[in-house]
Amino acid sequence: MTESDVKEAVRKRDGHRCLKCGVSQDDHRATEGRGLDVHRTVPGSGYSLAPGVCETLCRKCHGSATRSPRGDVSGLARDVGAAVRAARSAAGVAQKDLAAVVGIRNTHLSRMERGRHLVSILSLLRIEEALRLPICSLLDPPRPVGDESSPAKKGKK
Ligand SMILES: [Zn+2]
Repeated sequence: MTESDVKEAVRKRDGHRCLKCGVSQDDHRATEGRGLDVHRTVPGSGYSLAPGVCETLCRKCHGSATRSPRGDVSGLARDVGAAVRAARSAAGVAQKDLAAVVGIRNTHLSRMERGRHLVSILSLLRIEEALRLPICSLLDPPRPVGDESSPAKKGKK
């Protein structure tokens, strides 16, 4: 079976509907100009009919599933941003000075500290260097143990 055969079989199995919002293949084709997407719930896996591996999604639901595979990226951005801000104030460094050292715009750093943007690893390394911090102190924000609450429901039956 080719990849598109498998995708078509997954769509058929799921009744040609988005598993999250229920939009039908016909409605999707009318609004998006193409058929429903097949999303791989297991990162890095191939397309397969095995239970729980692939699910039929509309373009919108597929987009949100792909953007936050662990369902918690915004929480991570907030935690890391807060840690950066705390470390920066503790070091007595102004936002614009840190931004200049890291090589990013002040507004970018500000968004990052407010958790609106997830810092890149490269920026994090430079921040660590600028503030003379061990990187693990920025990457290990306080978090209750076992806080794995409700990641997006997988299509398991
Ligand atoms: Zn949908």
